[in-house]
Amino acid sequence: MNKRQAASTLAARLKLTSVLERVGSRPALAVLLYHRILKPEGHRYDAGVIEATPEQFDAQMAMLKKRHSVLDPDELTDVVTNPRKLRHLRVAITFDDAYRDNYDHAFPILASHGLRATFFAPTRYLGTRRIPWWDQIAWAVRNARKSELRLTYPAELVARVDERDPEPAIRAVIRAYTRGGPEVDLARYLAAVEEACELRLPDEVDDRQFMSWEEAREMERAGMAIGSHTHSHGILANMSAADQKRECEESRSRLKEGSLSAETLAYPVGNRRTFSPTTVRCAREAGYRCAFSNYGGINVPDRMDPFDVRRIGMSLDVDVPELRMKLVLSGLAGRELW
Ligand SMILES: [Zn+2]
Repeated sequence: MNKRQAASTLAARLKLTSVLERVGSRPALAVLLYHRILKPEGHRYDAGVIEATPEQFDAQMAMLKKRHSVLDPDELTDVVTNPRKLRHLRVAITFDDAYRDNYDHAFPILASHGLRATFFAPTRYLGTRRIPWWDQIAWAVRNARKSELRLTYPAELVARVDERDPEPAIRAVIRAYTRGGPEVDLARYLAAVEEACELRLPDEVDDRQFMSWEEAREMERAGMAIGSHTHSHGILANMSAADQKRECEESRSRLKEGSLSAETLAYPVGNRRTFSPTTVRCAREAGYRCAFSNYGGINVPDRMDPFDVRRIGMSLDVDVPELRMKLVLSGLAGRELW
């Protein structure tokens, strides 16, 4: 247990958190962001995108249901576009990437608590057996034929793979790409990973990792919403305006053809460098009502930007007392705290 968790647990035990919750909050919107709900043990791909086990997610949802007023997807779009409607802290739940465990685990847990979330799907992956580059890299490092990986592109990297704990090596190899900036060519980087690991990266896998179109439709019938996460999940700001427009439009039209709502968008990766004023224009012109980023923060009426709705990234090491404290303090302060 880290210091923040210990302090949050003590505050909950002393009923201090309840007192703070009763004080009330500023008008604010806290949007939580998850990717995968799974047990990380024995995971074959990128465990870095697992942000809660099913048990943790269940406990977090129970807390949200009990302590907060959680918006459903339509209400979320409504307050983002009409922020003056916010009277106190409201919470919303979102998922990026539309992994299959969102259907298998998150969906029934949300439904059991009467909660509804928005799931952002990259249409190139939805319903396929493809895996994205970060899962390809994690798979490659886990299955590498060598215990010392040497990459020379985009920079020199030596990563030692500990068989019992390959996670540090996986993180290092993924980071070497994400920190490389827009000039790093993904195909060339993946070829370098193949060479370093002495294997071929799988494009498709037997154990389908993304939800199917029918599963997505079933979730919408139960009150969840499927938004767009573009078509290919590439970094929009690195593309030409024409390609950004195509990514935004193609994903939306495919989702609509599949009888899914696609009213909202989440920018792939989502930090400040991954979208630009051109991206926002393309998203608006494609017909999205709002778009979500991913670099932390909560939204207050004066600073609400419907095409840069801030989200709080979740993590496996956040426990319920810590999340509860984070929400109450952020609601009081009008900015992300704790
Ligand atoms: Zn994503």
